[in-house]
Amino acid sequence: MKNETSQVFTARWVLPITAPPIPGGWIRVAGGEVVEVGSESVPLDAVDLGEMALLPGLVNAHTHLEFSDFSEPIGQPGVSLNQWIGMVISSRGQTNPTQKQHAVKAGMREMASTGTVLAGEISTPPCDYPDGGPQLIRFSEVVGLDSKRGDERFAAARALIDVDDRTAISPHAPYSTPWSLIERCVDLACSTNRPLAMHIAESPAERELLRNGIGEFAEALKSLGVWQEGLFPWGDQPLIRLIQLLSRTRRSLVIHGNDLSDPEIDVVARYPNLTVVYCPRTHHFFRYPDHPVARLQAAGVRVALGTDSRASNPDLNLWKEVQYLLCHRMDLPPGNVLEMATVNGARALGNTQYGELRVGSAAVFGGVSTAASSVEQLFSDLAENEFQPIQC
Ligand SMILES: [Zn+2]
Repeated sequence: MKNETSQVFTARWVLPITAPPIPGGWIRVAGGEVVEVGSESVPLDAVDLGEMALLPGLVNAHTHLEFSDFSEPIGQPGVSLNQWIGMVISSRGQTNPTQKQHAVKAGMREMASTGTVLAGEISTPPCDYPDGGPQLIRFSEVVGLDSKRGDERFAAARALIDVDDRTAISPHAPYSTPWSLIERCVDLACSTNRPLAMHIAESPAERELLRNGIGEFAEALKSLGVWQEGLFPWGDQPLIRLIQLLSRTRRSLVIHGNDLSDPEIDVVARYPNLTVVYCPRTHHFFRYPDHPVARLQAAGVRVALGTDSRASNPDLNLWKEVQYLLCHRMDLPPGNVLEMATVNGARALGNTQYGELRVGSAAVFGGVSTAASSVEQLFSDLAENEFQPIQC
């Protein structure tokens, strides 16, 4: 198909993601969309991007932009999750609304400059987002073991969902959101057809709290003064029950899933509407044991990548997560890692115009320098070189 206002780009490699890498491939774009992908007979009017791999823009499935002004993560590497949460709460208490808006803008700029075009943002209302930058699915966070606080946050989320179709819902985590409130969030996601995101199976301490109602998480909640009698334990197989509850939604993101057991992974795998979001460098910051990402993929679970926030990661550059995995998780096929950074996140967030290069995809790209003549060398170059957004 030829369009008079179209433009053609060719490069050393074109990576459609959902098809094998194309040496010397080309794409034609028109009207903000990809209208043709070719593997030979490069059109004469093509703009040659040279020694570069052309990829779709990146998808960051999980972040919290309000912490984007942190110059470094909070706490020392290996800090326990409950200690870290206490530090984040005291830090957030010192932030005023102007600083929060500044941080959100800075985070959006950082994501745009490093090639992220779509992101799953955990949002704490009230929060305004500037126009431009990456598309955001804004998961309004519902949190609070205290019923008054939980009700307020739920009402705020529902009010936003009523007026803004980019808003979704996020019951924060099993240790911070009572079961009954999670059920209300799931019901709201179902009735409004919005996605849901929730931090789940982050640490063994979370499991101990849910299973037995004791342990370091229980002690931390008590010392923070937020413990409520009667909320824990949840009883047998708490995470399986939670996964099944979330499976009722059209689309849910299981954030982290670090501590998912094999039987729990098998339950996640039954539901193609669930995606596990792995945040590699945040996972490493907490010095957790190896993430079960390979086991998840073997079971057929969709896995997407996130940066999480600058409170647990030095930056919001999703390509650094890709490079971390290419360098540290040799058990993962490189092509799968690229899917996790692109199409899997797009599907998880429900925006399938992003994350791949095919007819109908949004014309949002990035490039990585490479002169590779083999796929093996190509992936080696991707592990070394930066991802640069490309403006068409
Ligand atoms: Zn998070």
